[in-house]
Amino acid sequence: MKVAAVTGRQLCALVEKPMPTVREDFALVRNTVVPMCTEYHGYAEGWTGDCLGHEAAGEVAEVAQPGKVKVGDRVVVMPQYPCGKCDLCAEGDYIHCERCVDPTALCGSACGTATYAQYTIKQDWLLIPIPDDISTEHASMACCGLGPTFNAMHRMAVDSFDTVAVVGLGPVGLGGIVNAVHRGARVLAIDSYEYRRNLALELGAVAAFNPYDPDLLEQVKSAAGPRGVDKAVDCTGVPAAQEMAIGLTRRRGQMAFVGWGGHVELGNMCPGGLTLHGVWHWNLTQTPRMLRLIREVRSQLDLLITHRFPMSRVGEAWELQMTGACGKVLLDPWA
Ligand SMILES: [Zn+2]
Ligand SMILES: [Zn+2]
Repeated sequence: MKVAAVTGRQLCALVEKPMPTVREDFALVRNTVVPMCTEYHGYAEGWTGDCLGHEAAGEVAEVAQPGKVKVGDRVVVMPQYPCGKCDLCAEGDYIHCERCVDPTALCGSACGTATYAQYTIKQDWLLIPIPDDISTEHASMACCGLGPTFNAMHRMAVDSFDTVAVVGLGPVGLGGIVNAVHRGARVLAIDSYEYRRNLALELGAVAAFNPYDPDLLEQVKSAAGPRGVDKAVDCTGVPAAQEMAIGLTRRRGQMAFVGWGGHVELGNMCPGGLTLHGVWHWNLTQTPRMLRLIREVRSQLDLLITHRFPMSRVGEAWELQMTGACGKVLLDPWA
């Protein structure tokens, strides 16, 4: 099978890998829609490797044993390889599992964990069957397109009384606009790229700001009220942006950290009385709600997905992502 590889700084290639094999509760998925996330950082910096991606949707091609899915089912592939046995997994919070398994060792497979690939192996309970009335493209937004911010809004109980700031409008943050708007909140979008700010407005944000404007705080307060926003989500993982998000949030408000990385300086947290949430992906018991969300925001998803590329032109797709002039970008591993 073909997989995408970064071979140097802004260099890439398709490479041939052996067909993955499956055992036990693993299934082989033929990927047809591969949403691109933050892998372009690796391409830009030259982090070489051929095991890229964590988002995919497609069709079950093989199962090792009868189980939760069968050959031919359309499915969304959830991230990571959690144990499936610990309390966190049992409670649906598998993403925080501390005992992840080694899928290639378990399956005796030479590869299969990449999603920038024609096939991926995954435990059957981490494959979400796609209902007939939902397209594979829309369903694939259950990965990072909508997923992390879906949980951020859930954890902060965002509703129509809230003004919410979404900081960072990349492959994860733009979905935060969709999620917060869907819950009826007034949404403020913050990003340095004009393209993304405009897309956030199209997706339903009431205002969009450039974080480099010296009077950002005044602008946000004039839109949100003098106390600041009720809730904020950081999707950048950049400490300066995380600190800015804390600064924009009103006393007794809430903030969710969705972007990875950084050593944020919290300062004295007592006067503000903020509640902070660390968020990764969403709880698997929320699957019916996620599917309902996807049905109810179809038209926004058609705006959120701005580009499609054959995997044979993955380098062009990464170059586009580096410009910031895109929403969610999809790869077709078979073209
Ligand atoms: Zn576990
Ligand atoms: Zn992602």
